[in-house]
Amino acid sequence: MQIKQRPVFPGGIHPTDGSDKELSMEAAVQPYWPETVTILSEQSFGGKCRILVNPGDSVKEGQLIGEPDAFMAAPLHASVTGTVLEVKEVANQGRNILACVIRREEKHAEPDAAYCHEPVNIHNISREEILKGLRDGGLTGMGGAGFPTHKKYETDKPIDALLINGAECEPFLTCDYRLMLENGHALINGVRLLLKGSGAQKAYICLEDNKPRAAEHLRNILKQAGESGVLDADEHVEVKVLPTKYPQGGERQLIQAALSREVPMGGLPADVGVIVSNVGTARAAADVILGQMPLIRRIVTVTGSVKHPGNYLVPIGTSVRELVQLAGGVTVEKNRVIAGGPMTGPCVASDWKGEKELFYVTKNTSGILVLPDSAYEEQPCIRCGGCENVCPAGLVPYQIDFAFLEEDYDLCEKLFASECIACGCCSYICPAKRELTVRTRMARDMVKQRMRERAVKKA
Ligand code: SF4
Ligand code: SF4
Repeated sequence: MQIKQRPVFPGGIHPTDGSDKELSMEAAVQPYWPETVTILSEQSFGGKCRILVNPGDSVKEGQLIGEPDAFMAAPLHASVTGTVLEVKEVANQGRNILACVIRREEKHAEPDAAYCHEPVNIHNISREEILKGLRDGGLTGMGGAGFPTHKKYETDKPIDALLINGAECEPFLTCDYRLMLENGHALINGVRLLLKGSGAQKAYICLEDNKPRAAEHLRNILKQAGESGVLDADEHVEVKVLPTKYPQGGERQLIQAALSREVPMGGLPADVGVIVSNVGTARAAADVILGQMPLIRRIVTVTGSVKHPGNYLVPIGTSVRELVQLAGGVTVEKNRVIAGGPMTGPCVASDWKGEKELFYVTKNTSGILVLPDSAYEEQPCIRCGGCENVCPAGLVPYQIDFAFLEEDYDLCEKLFASECIACGCCSYICPAKRELTVRTRMARDMVKQRMRERAVKKA
């Protein structure tokens, strides 16, 4: 599929030649159901749940085990059928988090209902039922920060476009690609439900042009759906192919690329009439509303320096140590293990040999990446301007960096550090190997905190 390359959003980079994704692109999704799962009460930063079960309790797959205790939380469900062994604090990516450990005592059966194989009639499902499903099913964004899905769809702002994010622009990750190829029908049915739930006139499934097979597959399913007669007259869904460019999958960048709309500084997609959801979230919407199965499992890419890079369908709470073992273990002694993709994912271990637990799969764990360690030292900035050229948020990263190092947070604010999306483009391009992303992200968090404190004082 050839499309004319054009600038789709300012800045951005082309980090790789695609060989990183080729490691796992053809690896069909393998189910893995471990003996025990450790389900964290906090599935996204600041999204705590109150655990409702106790050691010794029997739980059924899909049973509610945690109620939201914070704005950023969504309900938690048992991802396996079995017995609660412990409710205890576990170390997870440098923090101690309360978790529920469940021993699995029954086999999991993937749903094999009609919605997984064909377009189904959703005419009698109301918008209220869809919103309730998103809320009760514990749906969260599955590609980014893990924001509870129902909060996006319950906006009082008028929405006219729904973007389904299948860009998967981070190097190495292929879980969304495999989902589009292998779960296309459930995905399209989920998109139709989200379209109805959003109240928008049209949904666009957005992919980059490095995934032509997935685009063609989804277009065929949509064609079949159109011919089947089950689609309502107002169900408009289009597959939109965009040029490959990082960070295409960032919400603001995707909106600009697909719809030529600019989200105002400090604003949300809803401010320009848009909701953005990941393809995994759309598939999960079909599961919860058509299959009565809450969000209890997801696809995770395990890749990089492992023997057999692949994609695994696992219950939430699966041990990452077990997953890497399943992929044949690490192949380099001097390594770095990253939770997610190389541009935005945090490094969770160095020189890891496979003994120690790393972390447990949450609803927004897209991948586990092992990279050979490349030691380098930061050098002084040479004012080349490279970081400024690539920043998709239009910031001047080296100036924010200096201001942050000087602890001049007023200046950080004046330099709009609050708009940093922590995409990693500036660090990637910097010839002086400056840790720009780490510090611009810290500057952003500091500025946002000061803004919140000022707002509280004013109120
Ligand atoms: S300053 Fe933030 S948004 Fe800009 S390139 Fe760096 S990490 Fe990305
Ligand atoms: S890319 Fe690096 S060296 Fe160049 S201006 Fe930015 S911080 Fe300085």
